[in-house]
Amino acid sequence: MANKKELLRQLPSVDEVLKTPEVKNLCEIYPRILVVEAIRQELDDIRTAFSSGSETSLKTSFDLPVLISKVKRDVEEASAPSLKRVINATGVVVHTNLGRSILSKKAIDAIVVIASGYSNLEFDVKSGERGSRHVHVSSLLCKLTGAEAAMAVNNNASAVLLALSTLAAGRGAIVSRGQLVEIGGSFRIPDVMRQSGAILKEVGTTNKTYISDFRDAITENTALLMRVHPSNFRVVGFSKEVSLEELVSLGREFNLPVLDDLGSGVLVDLSPYSLPEEPTAQSSIKAGADVVTFSGDKLLGGPQAGLILGKKKYVSLMEKHPLARAIRVDKFTLAALEATLSLYLEEEKALQEIPTLHMLTMSQSELKKTADRLAREIRTAVGQRMIIDSETDVSKAGGGSLPLAELPTAVVSIKPLHMTVNELEQRLRSGKPPILARIKEDKLLLDVRTIQESEDEAIIASLKQLSSGKS
Ligand SMILES: *Cc1c(COP(=O)(O)O)cnc(C)c1O
Repeated sequence: MANKKELLRQLPSVDEVLKTPEVKNLCEIYPRILVVEAIRQELDDIRTAFSSGSETSLKTSFDLPVLISKVKRDVEEASAPSLKRVINATGVVVHTNLGRSILSKKAIDAIVVIASGYSNLEFDVKSGERGSRHVHVSSLLCKLTGAEAAMAVNNNASAVLLALSTLAAGRGAIVSRGQLVEIGGSFRIPDVMRQSGAILKEVGTTNKTYISDFRDAITENTALLMRVHPSNFRVVGFSKEVSLEELVSLGREFNLPVLDDLGSGVLVDLSPYSLPEEPTAQSSIKAGADVVTFSGDKLLGGPQAGLILGKKKYVSLMEKHPLARAIRVDKFTLAALEATLSLYLEEEKALQEIPTLHMLTMSQSELKKTADRLAREIRTAVGQRMIIDSETDVSKAGGGSLPLAELPTAVVSIKPLHMTVNELEQRLRSGKPPILARIKEDKLLLDVRTIQESEDEAIIASLKQLSSGKS
């Protein structure tokens, strides 16, 4: 008991710790409030350990240098940004949890320019009058897709919400049962429809819907016919979907607009690159859809945004809807979006410079070369404690896009000999920077498709450190 009291008496006050030269130094670099908080926390922890009186804690006497090094570590951790860069070695290109698309250099440069100064966001410099933020992307979108009018909002979920609120609130919107999808993060089409005030009318069955199902469901209260692209799944086997063309011709007959939610929305036909066919925004416009919505950061490879294309009369109604203000897109997004879209004016350029498209269309032989090289470099760095190889495997497009696509890829495989593969995965994931990989049997796979060139060094350094036994 005396021992415990003696130990507690040895503990310095927060002020005393603050006066040590190392901690004074720390206060020069980091906010003092974080340093004080860390000291208080560490002293509390020691007090708790002493009072709980476990045999081991009673034996150790108070050690100031240890306390200071813990405080230093805590302060570094507390002042590190919460949102940080990670290395995506999962091979999932449009990885929603990892920020979906990474931007082209052109888009990044555009953000920096617009973020660093004032801009003509809503100002027409020619007339000197107030302008619209939509003009910065609408003409490009129209040029690329053949649409009459276009606008951008915060994301595709809000684009669908705005379209339904504007065109179908209080009235009926007809959609096939087979397309009442959940996208992920519990975004469900039926919930969004309800939220918009539209009255959802489901027709057909899970696997089969005919145009006659739509026709039979139309009443005077019907406002809209809707198609939703089943982004993240496919119905195989005995199935029937209504084509957009059929829906458009029914819509014309009854004077009802057709809304097409494309989800991923590509602007380039990806089928020549051995990817499954994905409907392009151009094809929806060509088929006559009145309003088309899709994401800016899925297969398009731009910033988070919801893109709306369509007939002028509908798009101008949407621009004026009060909800449009609540879900408006910000200037950084517009800058990145304009830059991304401008790359699509030359398909070659889009495929080369937009990282999402580039990663999706890389050939396996190209990837194998990269995996061979990276495997060699890692092998040299880690020595005998891990078995390093390069292998072929398959990666996924992700982001609820191209669900059936199996992209032939190449990976660096790592079989650790001094820890389990799960432990290796966890250690890499909690490293600086975090490295996210996938496990296959007793090996960890680093898929080179999604690893950026500049990230090789950090991967090698992390593995080197883990193989040396230090953490
Ligand atoms: C992804 C997706 C959405 C939601 O788009 P966000 O940009 O994530 O808001 C809506 N509809 C479909 C069909 C989708 O695939």
